[in-house]
Amino acid sequence: MANAEIGVIGGSGFYSFLEDVSEVQVETPYGPPSDSLYLGELAGRQVAFLPRHGRSHTVPPHKINYRANLWALRSVGVRQVLGPCAVGGLRAEYGPGTLLVPDQLVDRTKSRAQTYFDGEPLPDGSVPNVVHTTFADPYCPVGRSVALAAARGREWEPVDGGTMVVIEGPRFSTRAESQWHAAAGWSVVGMTGHPEAVLARELGLCYTSMALVTDLDAGAETGEGVSHTEVLKVFGENVGRLREVLFDAVAALPPTESRSCLCTHAHDGWDLGIELP
Ligand SMILES: [Zn+2]
Repeated sequence: MANAEIGVIGGSGFYSFLEDVSEVQVETPYGPPSDSLYLGELAGRQVAFLPRHGRSHTVPPHKINYRANLWALRSVGVRQVLGPCAVGGLRAEYGPGTLLVPDQLVDRTKSRAQTYFDGEPLPDGSVPNVVHTTFADPYCPVGRSVALAAARGREWEPVDGGTMVVIEGPRFSTRAESQWHAAAGWSVVGMTGHPEAVLARELGLCYTSMALVTDLDAGAETGEGVSHTEVLKVFGENVGRLREVLFDAVAALPPTESRSCLCTHAHDGWDLGIELP
């Protein structure tokens, strides 16, 4: 079986130029992931890249098989995951090009399978215990500080902390929704950060979100509202910079075996009842 220690869930812009990338198809009990895993070495680390929306960007946020994606990464050995994503800014000061490393998350999704512990009978017919995962701090504190340092090292002053609200999509927010999110004190809005983060936690993976602001959300601007063209333009302008930061972060993540962060203790005292890959 192929082996990697660090996973990156993001667009093809993050791996397409790497040399000696091997493509690995992984089956999971939850069906196929968004695409093959692309495994390669980066700064001496074995990394598995997974295009979140598929290689041709054909899987919309609400149709992504998040369970299969995280399961596939873990099954090739990944224990630390970096999740770059595009978001809308909910405050005027978080304009396009802002990089925010959130420390909190609000789930406003509606239709997504968001747990591995859903009480389904196991292959042997037994029914697993109920499991409640500790999720007060949804992101890995070690991964967050590594990502922040990597951004500063590339002279990109990141926003340290903030709340990402995740909406169902694929439509953007109405002005009223956006103003409500901003009034609640939340920082950015995205469509993929959940259940990616919680599924990583359920599998004992360290997960770090790196949110690139591509637009001001409807309630924080005065124009026509968010357009897809605008999002793509800003993402294109910043993807090279984000890739550098991401690769520096990969190099700086601690060795897998030295992890002792809260991510590894989410289920202390619980009998999970399922066999993790
Ligand atoms: Zn961690």
